Amino acid sequence: MNKAILDRVLQSPRLPSLPTIAIEVIELVQQKDVNIKQIAHTISHDPALSSKILKTVNSSFYGQAHSISTISHALVILGLNSVKTLALGFSLVGNLKETGGDGLDHVAFWKRSLFTATAARTLAQNFGLPQQEEVFLGGLLQDLGLLALSQTLNREYWPIISSVGEDHRSLLAMEREALDTDHAEVGGKLAEHWNLPPLLVAPVRWHETPDEGPEDLQPLVRCVALGNRVADVFMDINAGESLNEYYTLAKEWFGIDKDKAEPLLSTIHKSTVEMRKLFDLPTGPLENPDEILARANEALLNLSLQTAQQTTQLEQQNKQLTAQALTDSLTGTANRRHFNEFVSEQFDAAPQVGPLSILFLDTDHFKKFNDTYGHQVGDRVLVELGTLLLNTMPEGSLVARYGGEEFAVVLPKTDRITAARMAEKLRQDIQAATVESDEGQTLHITASIGVSTYEGSFYPKVDHLIKAADQAVYAAKKAGRNCVRIFTPRPKAVA
Ligand code: GH3
Ligand code: MG
Ligand code: MG
Repeated sequence: MNKAILDRVLQSPRLPSLPTIAIEVIELVQQKDVNIKQIAHTISHDPALSSKILKTVNSSFYGQAHSISTISHALVILGLNSVKTLALGFSLVGNLKETGGDGLDHVAFWKRSLFTATAARTLAQNFGLPQQEEVFLGGLLQDLGLLALSQTLNREYWPIISSVGEDHRSLLAMEREALDTDHAEVGGKLAEHWNLPPLLVAPVRWHETPDEGPEDLQPLVRCVALGNRVADVFMDINAGESLNEYYTLAKEWFGIDKDKAEPLLSTIHKSTVEMRKLFDLPTGPLENPDEILARANEALLNLSLQTAQQTTQLEQQNKQLTAQALTDSLTGTANRRHFNEFVSEQFDAAPQVGPLSILFLDTDHFKKFNDTYGHQVGDRVLVELGTLLLNTMPEGSLVARYGGEEFAVVLPKTDRITAARMAEKLRQDIQAATVESDEGQTLHITASIGVSTYEGSFYPKVDHLIKAADQAVYAAKKAGRNCVRIFTPRPKAVA
């Protein structure tokens, strides 16, 4: 909190003052055994105020069966609290209507406040919250701090409001950045300073951050925060997103499903039209609700489509990335990392599923081949070799590029004899395969292949099995290349 700014605002001679009638009402209701007659007398003393209150309580928004003709009558029917809050509302709003410095869009300000207020009250009514009047007035006064900041700091505050427009969540961030405080904090302090009842201070203070407020006041604050989403829908501010948030939060905060939350929107719009007349607020004309809601629904639909599309795209990208991370880019076979993972898994599973064989294959005299025909032709050979392996090795096996010109094949459920046969066939296939040189010559290569097999004992770890296959390749090279060697574990000497 920035105390200097707060002091400047609260002590500014430009700060709107509390109307006398409001001060009187606040003082009266704070007395312990408040006398209904006294309150009725105070309010009735201000004919303009009484007539507004009576018009309001007789409006369809209040749904009274019989018309209420005097303030005393209203006090009996609606209770002290409702009438007090209405009196405060009318006197405060009357005073605040003209408040605000340069650059403040009064029409948008009061439109937003009024939509929020009627939405909050309608929601509170539907959620069975008793403090409906406080919720209404809380919504109407929620941005008291904005008025105060705009009025007292004037041109200092102007750039902030003009840069964020109507988007209040960006507003909060901008205020904190520039002023080290925000309109909710300033509003809360001003409401306390004016001695407004705590049930009114709460929505002013916490409407932008409802989860941070005191727990016992949370339902009330949440009604106002939810009312803000509705206001955003009707004012076409991120309408799709706001509508989505309205539905999500109504469910999350109050357990209200979308089919219940949706019809409330037109009720809210109707009440707003009615309240606008009673409070005589400079909101400008209100748009046809059906058109606004149709637009918001369309935006919401587009939003969900977009999200679905983005999710699919992301899933595809992830799949691609995973595949890339496991594949050798030149040959399209598995890379060494994938080989290591796969062979370890298969080694662990082998005691249950059966023998596991590995083939290691090293291209013969490949250095010389490169030197003679060029590295690019060498690359082509490796690609051809990879393709041949992928095409000929059985399903369930894994073909990997182990290193430069070395390949490995993991053969689950394959015994030594079968693996040896496969290796020999592979050797012949490689020998028979041809690659063309850049000059059009037909070239041949050969490979040396080593085989090792886990058949239930001997190899304590997968690394030993791999090393055995490598040793078998070495043996094949030593034997003159272009041949297959099988690693045969020597039985342990019997003592
Ligand atoms: P040996 O029969 O004993 O295996 O002989 P060699 O020449 O194949 O073996 P050595 O290990 O001495 O050399 C391997 C050669 O493989 C050297 C290197 O240029 C070539 N090589 C490794 N990776 C690639 C590659 O990605 N592309 C090409 N074109 N050549 C590669
Ligand atoms: Mg080598
Ligand atoms: Mg080699």
